[in-house]
Amino acid sequence: MTETLEQTLRSAIRNIPDYPKKGIIFRDITTLLGQPAAFRRAVDELVHPYAGRRIDKVAGIEARGFILGGAVAHQLSCGFVPIRKKGKLPHDTVRIAYSLEYGIDEMEMHKDAIGVGEEVILVDDLIATGGTAEAAVKLLQRMEAVVVAACFVIDLPDLGGRSKIEQLGVPVRTLIEFEGD
Ligand code: AMP
Repeated sequence: MTETLEQTLRSAIRNIPDYPKKGIIFRDITTLLGQPAAFRRAVDELVHPYAGRRIDKVAGIEARGFILGGAVAHQLSCGFVPIRKKGKLPHDTVRIAYSLEYGIDEMEMHKDAIGVGEEVILVDDLIATGGTAEAAVKLLQRMEAVVVAACFVIDLPDLGGRSKIEQLGVPVRTLIEFEGD
């Protein structure tokens, strides 16, 4: 019997309790990336709704969003734009601050990475509180990109990230849900 997407992904993702701190279950996608069939399936599913539709760029959030987003961009034959932690990009950047559990951080992208009105999808491995993706969407919207969707392999629905992104007018696509944080 062929496995469902849910079964394939659930068995390929490794759960690491109490990492990086007590009470958090870290959803480790390195095991998924290491399994060719699971990696391909995840990328195919992320791509599926946008195949044959105009997408100009895929924006990926450092660092796991680079791996998945790069594969998605390749399959859609469109460009890839890295959204990075501050200080890593060499040319002129736009920057946005966002809240982490403790304190704030900043992310940035190159000013010339996306043209006005370009159609973009955002990719990361996981959405939890949605704070990271919210900042990335705001950065893209500030550059007047049209953010077509924000796509993640994993959703932690108990943390409510999805609605934060939807409030910005951006649909959210996720492939599998895990309870808790
Ligand atoms: P958030 O801003 O709360 O939505 O957190 C999303 C970012 O933190 C993503 O880049 C994830 O890779 C990472 N992240 C948050 N929680 C987890 C978790 N339980 N397991 C793995 N990565 C996580």
